[in-house]
Amino acid sequence: MKIKIVGAYGASLSTYHLTTFILDKTIALDAGSLNIMDLEDQLAIDHIFITHAHLDHIGGIAFYIDNIFALTNKTIFIHAIPEVIKSMKDHLFNKDIWVDFTKLPSEGRPRISFNELKLFEPVEVNGKIITPLPTEHIVPSSAFLIEEKKKYFLYTGDMIRAPKMWEYVNKLPKLKGMIIEVSFPDSLMNIANASKHLTPSLLRKELKNLKHMETEIYIYHIKPMFIDEIVQDLFPKTVDRNIKLLYEDEIIEI
Ligand SMILES: [Zn+2]
Ligand SMILES: [Zn+2]
Repeated sequence: MKIKIVGAYGASLSTYHLTTFILDKTIALDAGSLNIMDLEDQLAIDHIFITHAHLDHIGGIAFYIDNIFALTNKTIFIHAIPEVIKSMKDHLFNKDIWVDFTKLPSEGRPRISFNELKLFEPVEVNGKIITPLPTEHIVPSSAFLIEEKKKYFLYTGDMIRAPKMWEYVNKLPKLKGMIIEVSFPDSLMNIANASKHLTPSLLRKELKNLKHMETEIYIYHIKPMFIDEIVQDLFPKTVDRNIKLLYEDEIIEI
């Protein structure tokens, strides 16, 4: 499995883009920057998995659908837990802020269709088994565990803690890699706590819950204006873990 990093940051600024990861060309994990990919790459997408309904994770869907609408006949499936789907329907695809693409070009064959996921219940799409796991953020949210050929990869989405997620992944034989957030430096702990995001020291605390020491840990969702301070807080204090920053256009192979 190849994971392409399209957007790795928690803000849209200059050359830094909002969260979007692509699994083997056809599955998107979050969609903040789905619309900035080459058109050919946008047309290859069949499924979009959304962790939560914050605009930095769903905003790209609006322009992505507009880009591909008249160039394909297929229905693109958007998967998320019910609360997240409700927010997207009520506040984005509501015929007010943006078009209701679940009824266009026809209700029988719409361009997008929502699929409600249940926590801990896996779905299989394009050869991958994807399981939503609970996380705590300021709005309803989930992580996604991806399995292919008995190899496991975890994408946490935005979070401050996730005890049931750790409990679940600790039962796996191995966890090859994970993408987890760090948004703010430790000096902005008050903002991190209020918005339910991680700082480097909160990340260290959370990683104590992960029993797999072999896991490659990739950091995403950094607010780019604080990147230098976050790097100073992260390294070398986090020495017992294999931690890397995630870079855009990078491809992770699992
Ligand atoms: Zn976010
Ligand atoms: Zn968020």
